[in-house]
Amino acid sequence: MDKFLFSQVNIPTKATIEDLVENLKKYCQPTDVETAQLAYDFASKAHAGQFRKSGEPYILHPLCVAHILSQIQAEPNIVIASLMHDVPEDTEITLEEIEKNFGSDIANMIRGITKLGKLKYRGVERYIENLRKLFVAMAEDIRVMIIKFADRVHNLSTLESLPEKKRERIALESLEIYAPIANRLGMGEFKGLLEDLSFKYVKPKDFQRVKAIRDQNISEKNVYLDKIIKTMETELKGADINYLDIHGREKQLYSLYQKLLKKNWEVSNIYDIVAVRVIVKDVGDCYACLGIIHKLWRPLKGRIKDYIAQPKPNGYQSLHTTVFCDDGKIVEFQIRTKEMHQEAEFGITASHWTYDERGPRPSKKDLNWAKELAKMQQEILNNIKDLEEMKVDFFHNHIFVFTPKGDVIDLPEDATPVDFAYHIHTEVGNKCNGAKVNDQMVSLDSFLKSGDVVEIVTDKNRKGPSQDWLKFVKTHAAKNHIKAQLNSSKITWIKNLFEKKIK
Ligand code: MN
Repeated sequence: MDKFLFSQVNIPTKATIEDLVENLKKYCQPTDVETAQLAYDFASKAHAGQFRKSGEPYILHPLCVAHILSQIQAEPNIVIASLMHDVPEDTEITLEEIEKNFGSDIANMIRGITKLGKLKYRGVERYIENLRKLFVAMAEDIRVMIIKFADRVHNLSTLESLPEKKRERIALESLEIYAPIANRLGMGEFKGLLEDLSFKYVKPKDFQRVKAIRDQNISEKNVYLDKIIKTMETELKGADINYLDIHGREKQLYSLYQKLLKKNWEVSNIYDIVAVRVIVKDVGDCYACLGIIHKLWRPLKGRIKDYIAQPKPNGYQSLHTTVFCDDGKIVEFQIRTKEMHQEAEFGITASHWTYDERGPRPSKKDLNWAKELAKMQQEILNNIKDLEEMKVDFFHNHIFVFTPKGDVIDLPEDATPVDFAYHIHTEVGNKCNGAKVNDQMVSLDSFLKSGDVVEIVTDKNRKGPSQDWLKFVKTHAAKNHIKAQLNSSKITWIKNLFEKKIK
C-alpha cells in the first residue's frame, strides 16, 4: 500500500535534489530518475548566479516545483520538464538545446510553459489575451497546466517577498482562474492549495477569522476523533472489511469560508470542518463500511450522500454520511476506494491518458474534453468580475474542436470547416473540397461547435479556394489565405493569357 498518496502535499521551503530522487525512486524507472538528475544539473548550471526576490538561489524554485509534482506522483516527464521550466525564458540556454539533450516530449512541454510566459498585467486586453493563451496551451497539452499549477503553488507560498500590489494580483488571479480550472480537472488537492494560499492575500481579515474557527474546531474534536478512528478500526477488522487507511481530514479554509458565508457564519451548522475519511479496497467495502457506521451511530436525516452512484460533475466519487457520535457530537464520514481518492485529489494526473508518437493526450473516451474546456472557459469568465466592462469578444466566443487524431484546435465561435482547414495547413484549405463533422458530411459553410470532430476532404485536382468562401469564413488567417490564393491565381491567369498572346 502506498501510504504516501493519502497524505496531503506539503510545500517544501528547502528542497534538495536528494529528496527529489528519493521521491522519484518510489514510482519511476531508474532511467527516469537518472534523467531527472541530469535535468537538475542542466538547470542549475543554466540558472547559476541567479537569485529570487527572497534572496535564495533561483534553482530552488524549479526544484520545489518538481518536488510538489513528485509528491502527487506525476508522470516522470512532467517532473523532469518542471526542473527546466524557467530555463528558456530566464537564461541563455535555448529550447533547441533542451530538445537536443532531453528529447521533444520534454522540450514541447517547456515550450508550452514558456509560451504562457510570465503573466504580466498590462491592462485588460493583455490579461484576456493571457487567459486565451492559457486555454490554448491547456488544449495542446494538459500536462503544461499541471506544471503551471505546481509553479503557481510554489510562487504563492513565497509571495511574501513581492511588493503588495503584485502579491494581490497574483493571488486574485490564482483564486479566480487557476483554482476553478484545477477544480474542473478534478484536482482537489491543487484547487485547495491554490485557494488557501491566495485567500490569505486576497481577504486577509476573513482568512484569519476562518482560520481561528477551524483551529478551535480541530482542538475541540481532536481527542474524540482519535477515539472514533480506533472504534472504526476495531469494527472494520471484526467485519473483515479491508480498509487501507482511516484519517481525519480538515476542511480547506477557502471552501470553509464559502460555506460560512452561505450559512451566515453559523459555525454550529457546519459538520465537516473536520471529517473522518475511510479508504477501503473496493466499492462493495464502501457500502459495507457505511452500514457499519450506521449500526454504530445514528445518521442525521438527509445527510447520506451517494456520490458513487451519482458522481459530481467533475467526477468526484465517495459516500458521505453525518452521524451522532458519542455524547451527541456530530461527525461526518467520507468513504471511498483508493482509486476514487487519487482521482479526487489528483484528477487528470492520475488517469485518462493515451500515448501516441506525439506523446500523451486525453484519451478518446474523453473526447468530451473540448466541451469541458469550453465550459470551463465560460465558467471562469463568468467568475471574473466586471467582464461586461471589458468588452472582449475574441476570447469570449471561442470553441474547441478536434482533428480525427484527437488534437484540439481552438477557433472563434461560428467558425466553419473552411476555417478549420486553413488552421491545419494552407494547402489543406486551398484543396478543401468537403468536410465531415462527427462522421457526417456537412456543407462548408456550416457552423462548428465545441467538441466536434472535424475531417477535411481534400481534392488534389482542385484549382483553389472559391470566392464565395470569403462570405462565411471567420478567421483572419482563412480570409488572408483565400485572398492571397485568389490573387495569385488571377495573376497566373493574366500571365498565361499574356504568354499565349506573345506566342
Ligand atoms: Mn516558475
